[in-house]
Amino acid sequence: MMFNNQQMEARTRSLTVLQQRILSCRLCQEQGYIPVAHPIVSGRANDHILVIGQAPGHRSTANNKPFSGPGGRILQKWLELAGFPPGYLHEHTYLSSLTRCDPGKNSRGNGDRRPSPAEMALCRPYLEAELRIVQPRVVLLVGTMAIEAFFARGPLEKIIGRYEERDTMLFLPLPHPSGVSRWLNDPAHQQLLHNALAILADWREGYGL
Ligand code: SF4
Repeated sequence: MMFNNQQMEARTRSLTVLQQRILSCRLCQEQGYIPVAHPIVSGRANDHILVIGQAPGHRSTANNKPFSGPGGRILQKWLELAGFPPGYLHEHTYLSSLTRCDPGKNSRGNGDRRPSPAEMALCRPYLEAELRIVQPRVVLLVGTMAIEAFFARGPLEKIIGRYEERDTMLFLPLPHPSGVSRWLNDPAHQQLLHNALAILADWREGYGL
């Protein structure tokens, strides 16, 4: 969508106010879901692509930068496979997630805890507000939780490679880019990922992303 200068300034102001509200949020801490709330935000009102992940991990929180770890490096590589330049993920992509605070380790201590439905419900209005203000052309749903929250439930092999247009936004599901996920070990699943990245490459050219 094209915006004139005045509209862009208004959107930038609204986004700054929203991001300040998110940064000062302590709801999950106050309600006992996490010991310390440390929300992080990253993105600009004129970004054309908005990424929705699960939740920041400890590394991203420590760096105050979403997708700071290996998952971010893999996601950047996927963007490059779709024709985007190096650095695009952090410099030109709005990075959002179902919750903005690190949920901590899971009970087995071998990975990140999945945010609970209650935590996601508390954080969801921020995500809806970001979508309303930024109005991205493309929304990348990264990982099962984001896919289930915005696209569909079901096995990834029936979902990756599909997309949906809703309210002028194109929703494209992607698998989680972490080395922990074994889904991508299957060559057939790699092919599905490449199909999804080919769709993204077409949009990059067609919409000048
Ligand atoms: S996860 Fe979201 S709702 Fe919960 S404290 Fe952090 S910013 Fe607030």
